[in-house]
Amino acid sequence: MDEKIFRAYDVRGTYPDQMNEETAYKIACAYVETVKPKTVVVGRDLREASEKMFDAVVKALTDRGVNVKDAGRMTNPMIGFAVFNYGFDGGIILSASHNPIGYGGMKMTKKDAVTVPGDDSGLKNFAINGVPQYQGQKGKIEKIDIKKDYIDFVRSMIDIKSLKQKKILFDAMYGSVGLILDDVLEGLPVERVNLHTKPDKNFGGLSEPNPLNTQIQQEALELAKREKPDFTVMWDGDGDRVFFLDEKGCFINAPYITAALVEVVAKKYPGSTIVCDERIIWPVERACEKTGTRQVLSKSGYRFMKETFMKEDGVFGAETTAHYFFKETKYMDNGVIPFLMIWQLLSETGKTLSEAVAPYRDGHFMIDEIKFKVEDQSEIIVDLKKKYSDGRQNEMDGLTVQYDDWRFNFRGSNTEPAAKLNLEAKDEKLMQEKVKEVKKIIEKNQ
Ligand SMILES: [Zn+2]
Repeated sequence: MDEKIFRAYDVRGTYPDQMNEETAYKIACAYVETVKPKTVVVGRDLREASEKMFDAVVKALTDRGVNVKDAGRMTNPMIGFAVFNYGFDGGIILSASHNPIGYGGMKMTKKDAVTVPGDDSGLKNFAINGVPQYQGQKGKIEKIDIKKDYIDFVRSMIDIKSLKQKKILFDAMYGSVGLILDDVLEGLPVERVNLHTKPDKNFGGLSEPNPLNTQIQQEALELAKREKPDFTVMWDGDGDRVFFLDEKGCFINAPYITAALVEVVAKKYPGSTIVCDERIIWPVERACEKTGTRQVLSKSGYRFMKETFMKEDGVFGAETTAHYFFKETKYMDNGVIPFLMIWQLLSETGKTLSEAVAPYRDGHFMIDEIKFKVEDQSEIIVDLKKKYSDGRQNEMDGLTVQYDDWRFNFRGSNTEPAAKLNLEAKDEKLMQEKVKEVKKIIEKNQ
């Protein structure tokens, strides 16, 4: 078994060499030994690899006496929902997220949708070295349909009656959101423009079901220019991240969407706590000031975000990477709720999407995250600390340096030998100057 498949949040690898029916069986056995569940809900994304490994996982669970609820195909956020909504002891979804075709993976949770990390030492040990023999009774398999309850749940997160007629372009990357989109929209005042909304096990030949891939984004951008919808919503292949284009067909960076969503959350939960990661913070800071909510910063990564949410009693939050979290989803990320909330915001305020984000985007400039190939970022951090010794520095998540009119965050990746730079400024020219300057220091040490 290739140990590289055991990652921070899931198990993932190329199919069938790294991940296959045999590894899936072993990992599911290891999961039972680690979590000790009685009843587990199992789901899968659209991939053929997932379908094949699904059977292996179900067999492993029942072979070891665990009852299986077979929930079939679903979006990633639905597995966590199934676990907490029905009180199961855990859930497993066969999914390789938004990776290209040719990958397979598993995401596991225990009770209350608490993530079992892919690199959990117990899980990894049992998967590699085997589990004790089991001679008890076999578990039972029962099919369940969670779709209706899930749709009711996401729709209950907003004031559905407030929604006004909109023309909306939907791009689901041929992914799993296509399984539920008709039901989410049923009876709602929408004129639909559909792009890649039919679920397809090969993602319709897209190189990857990832809306951040600028080549793949192109189709939606062009269609939006032609069709002129009120706004465009794009989901990644597994439906846990969501992106927006405004009424002009321009891409809106996630922190501006997060800031606009804070307005909706603040109405429902006045004075509440909003959690966001360290990478880009000023748009949400403005939204919190405006709405009287409290911004709390967290180390990025699902594990740390969740910890911060629980400690600070956060109700809503997001990562710069367009993962949105809610108290009601037990801090699991969700891609459909932010879409409904944006629709509600535009309906209630009568604003266009570009107007809704304007208070946060005007006078704010941010770069797209820059990735550097580095094995060890400690030398770089030493240099950056020296160069920017007159700035306010903290090392909660890599290195953050802040001045009054610009700031940056430089951090190692949790999942690969790389480091990432994010930078925001109150002036565009300043942003460009500072990116150049910081990049030079990083590249010198590469
Ligand atoms: Zn995803």
